[in-house]
Amino acid sequence: MNRVLVLGGGQLGLMMAEAAARLGLVVDRYDPERAVLLPGTSDLAVPITWEECMERYPVITVEREAFPDTGLSARLAASDRCVARGALATIPDRFDQKSMLDRLGIPTAPWRLLDRVEDLSAAVAEFGGVVVKARSGGYDGRGTWIIGEGGDLGTVPADELAGRAIVEKKIPFRRELSIVGARNPAGETLFYPLTRNWHVDGILRLSLAPAVASAALQPHAEDILRRIMEELDYAGVMAVEFFEQDGELLVNEIAPRVHNSGHWTHEGADWSQFDLHVHALAGVPLHALNVHGPTAMVNLIGTPFDQAWLQHPGVVHWYGKSVRPGRKLGHANLTADSLDGLRQGLRAWADVLPEGFEKVLDSELSLDRG
Ligand code: ATP
Ligand code: MG
Repeated sequence: MNRVLVLGGGQLGLMMAEAAARLGLVVDRYDPERAVLLPGTSDLAVPITWEECMERYPVITVEREAFPDTGLSARLAASDRCVARGALATIPDRFDQKSMLDRLGIPTAPWRLLDRVEDLSAAVAEFGGVVVKARSGGYDGRGTWIIGEGGDLGTVPADELAGRAIVEKKIPFRRELSIVGARNPAGETLFYPLTRNWHVDGILRLSLAPAVASAALQPHAEDILRRIMEELDYAGVMAVEFFEQDGELLVNEIAPRVHNSGHWTHEGADWSQFDLHVHALAGVPLHALNVHGPTAMVNLIGTPFDQAWLQHPGVVHWYGKSVRPGRKLGHANLTADSLDGLRQGLRAWADVLPEGFEKVLDSELSLDRG
């Protein structure tokens, strides 16, 4: 039996455990904050030692990029059983991540290190609009300051950030896309089609897959993700977020794990990203991957579970976490025969979507019609 241990006690590991059960594989989670094992999909919390981990789990994976520095988690993340070891050494610090992309010749938003306070005004002079990003610890728009051309720099705590942030050019992108793919330890790879992502205030609200009019970009996206996974000697699922600008892809950031923009694969493909991740790690040979018609993924954010959702078109995935404003608590996936069909179905979800979501569908439709 091939058992996999996930570092992290959140929903991503839970969905891996769920997927593992489909093929009779075992995925257990380790909660680094509470220093306990959360076996399978159970709510049991079991103390575990390093020796027990080594005896039980030949493969270790992660559901996030940063861990408390103390205790078992740091040791497990650094272990040679951890298939994300290389990624964890490079990706969590945006300076290292961007430096790697530059070294690989992969296009990204132009950027500078915010080393001294003066670097901020120098970047504004060079780039116009800028995005300041903490080197580490940011997510869902936290640790990110977007300053449009002529915008107020006063909102950026530059003193605090000096040495601990990068400044990027603000990209006037046409749309945001991402690719999710898997690599197994033998180096074989498998990819989903590019996905269109709609972020509001730095938080992903809606994904549409496959992104229309992206056939020409798909090989580039696959090549970029393949090269990154090879460089990091990575196994499992990884995602890359892109800006599409003038028909080109610029990398925004890398997520060395299953990714929110891949949640549509639950209903939108016959094997989900969680299946692929677990299979890649548990030694299941690479297999066929069939993607269904257009699929939408709606994030359920900061709002309690509503029974009425079960009457809406689509399937709900609820994570069972406590409700907090801005917190990702679940997602719903809808499939349809066409983008127009998706639009119809999404109208039922209008109360959990930010205003303007139909514009995203309009824009996909207009790109589709070329
Ligand atoms: P995640 O939760 O995906 O880890 P994050 O908060 O760490 O996100 P980013 O993905 O870097 O940070 O940025 C969040 C969003 O902010 C992006 O999806 C995009 O909408 C916007 N953004 C980030 N960088 C830029 C940029 N250089 N130009 C324009 N918009 C940007
Ligand atoms: Mg992001």
